[in-house]
Amino acid sequence: MKTPRLFLSPPHMGGREQEFVRQAFESNYIAPLGPMVDAFEREFSAATGIPHCLALSSGTAATHLALRHMGIRPGDVVMASTLTFIGSVTPVTFEGAVPVFIDCDEASWNMDPALLEQAIEAAVRRGQLPRAVIPTDLYGQPCDLPGILAVCDRHGIPVICDSAEAVGARCQGRHAGSGAWAAVFSFNGNKIITTSGGGMLASHDGALIDHARKLSQQARDPAPWYEHTEIGFNYRMSNILAAIGRGQLEVLEDRIRRRREIFEGYRQRLGDLPGISFMPEAAGCRSNRWLTVALIDPAAFGADTHAVREALEAENIEARPVWKPMHLQPVFRGRDFWKGREAVSERLFAQGICLPSGTAMADGDLDRVCQIIRRLAKR
Ligand SMILES: *Cc1c(COP(=O)(O)O)cnc(C)c1O
Repeated sequence: MKTPRLFLSPPHMGGREQEFVRQAFESNYIAPLGPMVDAFEREFSAATGIPHCLALSSGTAATHLALRHMGIRPGDVVMASTLTFIGSVTPVTFEGAVPVFIDCDEASWNMDPALLEQAIEAAVRRGQLPRAVIPTDLYGQPCDLPGILAVCDRHGIPVICDSAEAVGARCQGRHAGSGAWAAVFSFNGNKIITTSGGGMLASHDGALIDHARKLSQQARDPAPWYEHTEIGFNYRMSNILAAIGRGQLEVLEDRIRRRREIFEGYRQRLGDLPGISFMPEAAGCRSNRWLTVALIDPAAFGADTHAVREALEAENIEARPVWKPMHLQPVFRGRDFWKGREAVSERLFAQGICLPSGTAMADGDLDRVCQIIRRLAKR
């Protein structure tokens, strides 16, 4: 018999989700909006310390609403991390605005605030400031938000932190995304906690969340009939999915503990091999270690990431390359890209591999993955 596939990051239910879903059925709120959505927003706000939260159909929708609220216009510039998932920047293009990509640094693999500063200073000289900056918290590691805010605040540029992968991550005691003008979270099926599909927009700015809430419901004005003075979207989270989210939120700390344990497990089993290193953790931060990412230097290790991925695939184990940088994506050909002496994101893409990190995986699975990788190493 074939061993069941070991997925990169499958959903892992905590136990109480079905009970919450049952309650939602009993109340017959089989709809977007409803008591589960309200409770999920309240509980997410308590968990993150970000006062205003809006549950939505996706993280991408959350970023879109933040951009729409600030009145972004066609031709406006938005600076964003290059090393990210495309959902981070597609909302910029929905509004006809133009993304400019910023490389990452070695310490965190996230947007380098020094490069952002250079890009913004060049924009000042040209007379076209970016309307927003969207840094990503990559693989659950918070970006250097204080460093980014220091640059952006000087010019009054709002920061939308893409914390889609970073639910539960903290830096200097603050939750990922907290302190940015807006923070975006995702509960897609492969994230650290999931509602099968969903997202959250969170902010200290109540006016943003109030307006985004209206925009997410077809921008209906308060009137007994359907009255519309602006165009909105249908972006709300369903009450059923919010019920799943409430169950998941209860086990978030367990999930982070296990993800971090899996990361340490890989490091212990593989760290002695030549040419293998792991994603660093920025000082003062607790990454949620959503995915364990290893770097493989082919010259020192004896095989490259593709060979490793193929060897794992042959054993029915899913692994993936690190996100392909946005400035290398055909859809963004010709867009500006800011880097230092070397494009760090390009090396991370060439040498990085995301290893199975699902919290339900057993230590035996970890052993199996590591044995396959060890067999490829130079000796
Ligand atoms: C998952 C993800 C998104 C998009 O979230 P969805 O809920 O799938 O729309 C955005 N940015 C990053 C970095 C992500 O990993």
